[in-house]
Amino acid sequence: MDPVSQLIKAVISGRTYDEVAWAAFIRLRAAFPNWATLTLADPSQIEPVIDPVTQAGDKARRLPILIRVIILKRGALNLDFLRDEPLHEAMEWLTRLPGVGIKAAAATLNFSTLARAVMTVDTHVHRVSRRLGLSARGDDRELAYDALMEQAPADWDADRFFELHWLMKAHGQSICTHFDPACDLCVLRETCPRIGVGRDQEGEVVAFRSPDA
Ligand code: SF4
Repeated sequence: MDPVSQLIKAVISGRTYDEVAWAAFIRLRAAFPNWATLTLADPSQIEPVIDPVTQAGDKARRLPILIRVIILKRGALNLDFLRDEPLHEAMEWLTRLPGVGIKAAAATLNFSTLARAVMTVDTHVHRVSRRLGLSARGDDRELAYDALMEQAPADWDADRFFELHWLMKAHGQSICTHFDPACDLCVLRETCPRIGVGRDQEGEVVAFRSPDA
């Protein structure tokens, strides 16, 4: 998608299942074929369109503001200039926008036609990276992003980051789940320092269980 569409998709996707967010985005696109008209929309017109995404009311209030701020800062609703900005400056520019966090910023840069070489760290990538030791256990999402970007080979292009994001996300959704990860089925179990993380026999969540336990 174009970067503005990708940014809007990323913003309404926060804490929401992919299929729910995609359906909401498609309804929003149909209701507002020209994104600039969102600046004139009342949140009460937007909320029912994107519901049931998480915090639909907050997102409905933020979207017109977000679009207005982009137009004010750039003079037009266009983010193509981010293709040529240094990566850290592009990330900073996006994360200064209202309601845009590091995940939405990276998704805008990597998933869109901008095709920037940057890692999108969602909740699954964040969890898997900490369990695998690619980021520290106490790292928040920003620190995990920094750690992954530091370790990524310098010659990786946008496609490599895109692929890694979706592989780690799929791994986090299907095997390395939040509760009860299926370590016995995991192809990374030989090297993972957190093998066995999950619940004990009473069903209590345990932070760490050694491979020999
Ligand atoms: S061994 Fe377990 S904790 Fe480690 S990556 Fe695989 S599923 Fe996740």
